[in-house]
Amino acid sequence: MTDLVVTGADLGESRPFRLRISGGRIVAVGPDLQVDAADNVFDAAGGAVIPGLHDHHLHLYAAGAAHESVRVGPPEVVNQSAFATALARADQALPAGAWIRGVAYHESVAGPLDRRLLDKLVPHRPIRIQDRSGAQWTLNSAALHKLGAIPTDQGRVERDAMGQPTGRLTRMDRWLADELGPSCPSLAAVGAEAARAGVTGFTDATPLSDPRQLDLLVAAQSAGDIRQRVTVMSAPGAPIRAPATITLGPMKILLDDDRLPSFSALCEAIVTAHDAGRPAAIHCVTRVQTVLTVAALAEAGSCGRDRIEHGAVIPDDLLAPLVELGVTVVTNPGFVYERGDAYLREVNPDDLPVLYRCGTLHAAGIGVAGGTDAPFGPADPWRVMQACTERTTASGKRLGPGERVEPRTALSMFLGSSTHPGTPRRIAPGQPADLCVLFIPLADALRDLSANNVALCLIGGVVVADNR
Ligand SMILES: [Zn+2]
Repeated sequence: MTDLVVTGADLGESRPFRLRISGGRIVAVGPDLQVDAADNVFDAAGGAVIPGLHDHHLHLYAAGAAHESVRVGPPEVVNQSAFATALARADQALPAGAWIRGVAYHESVAGPLDRRLLDKLVPHRPIRIQDRSGAQWTLNSAALHKLGAIPTDQGRVERDAMGQPTGRLTRMDRWLADELGPSCPSLAAVGAEAARAGVTGFTDATPLSDPRQLDLLVAAQSAGDIRQRVTVMSAPGAPIRAPATITLGPMKILLDDDRLPSFSALCEAIVTAHDAGRPAAIHCVTRVQTVLTVAALAEAGSCGRDRIEHGAVIPDDLLAPLVELGVTVVTNPGFVYERGDAYLREVNPDDLPVLYRCGTLHAAGIGVAGGTDAPFGPADPWRVMQACTERTTASGKRLGPGERVEPRTALSMFLGSSTHPGTPRRIAPGQPADLCVLFIPLADALRDLSANNVALCLIGGVVVADNR
């Protein structure tokens, strides 16, 4: 295969560099590399060449489904009449009997959702609405009727005083997916959108429990819908074996405040991950979850590559233990922008200064990596980087300005590998040619962190997005 030579690359040096790419890897980097007649040449014309971005925490299947769903939360939908309009539109667009799938609901729209409210708006077809955290679905009566008996041994089914289901189901995604049969959202839009933003790798943070959950991903890869490198997580002890095209990453441990595992059960789950040669990735969005997790890692022992997912609330007294344990925090500061106004109204004032911290974690020497948490957070990693540097909410208020980081640091949060998320990859011989080529030099791009600056995205030396 012909080599590709990228010329005129800004690598942050005083003069332009050239990169030779062969067999999917960078094989040489230098200012004066020779270009042969047989080479393909791409002139970066002074634009920066950086490692392709890695989104360290997102949910591919849910992101694909979100593209095929109606958004019923802020900023698009902010009150009950807009909610009713969005559902009525979806209702008109769908064939009889098809489910409406709504996502991103928040109580500020029309209060707490339940079956009765949904019945008023859409009585005749099944509907399910996911709250913006992704943990809860609310179903109308037609949907509950279709599903029949709901098991009591999975997730949580809320019931009213009469013992009737309110329609609210928590952490029952797996069961719902099994009941509703194989719904196969296309991942093409997710893959293409990410490639246009220069994303060359994904870590899917959904804890897989059934090997069949990988089928959709494998199919999306074969169809060319997902060309990025993919790492997945699995639930502790789940019989997941990844095919050659997918990397098996950490074991994911989910925590919910109202049914936290016992301390010993959490320690055991961490040990299960380590015994399998894998890090633990523990979901921590509240103070109690983070405190419990750090104590359990201290007791069970850290493997040096364990991760805290989200790290929404990290109090000061946990900083030193996190450094000592070598834990990486995979955070989602995109929420500062997208949900920040609600946080300012609703979050315990004690937690506000320590919400989605970045600056303090970096300064303490804790590994920090960035994830979009798409579709629950903004899918554009550049938007997340901006939130890291500005700490402004959608309405322009400041949230935790002390946690701001320099643009270069914000960018580095998306440059780690899936195995070492907190350590930026480099443009160097031997590295995979997963690259993001910008229209402009790095110094300019750092003043304007935007996906609009991405000219080209290459994975294994193959161009997967060309925005020129
Ligand atoms: Zn997530």
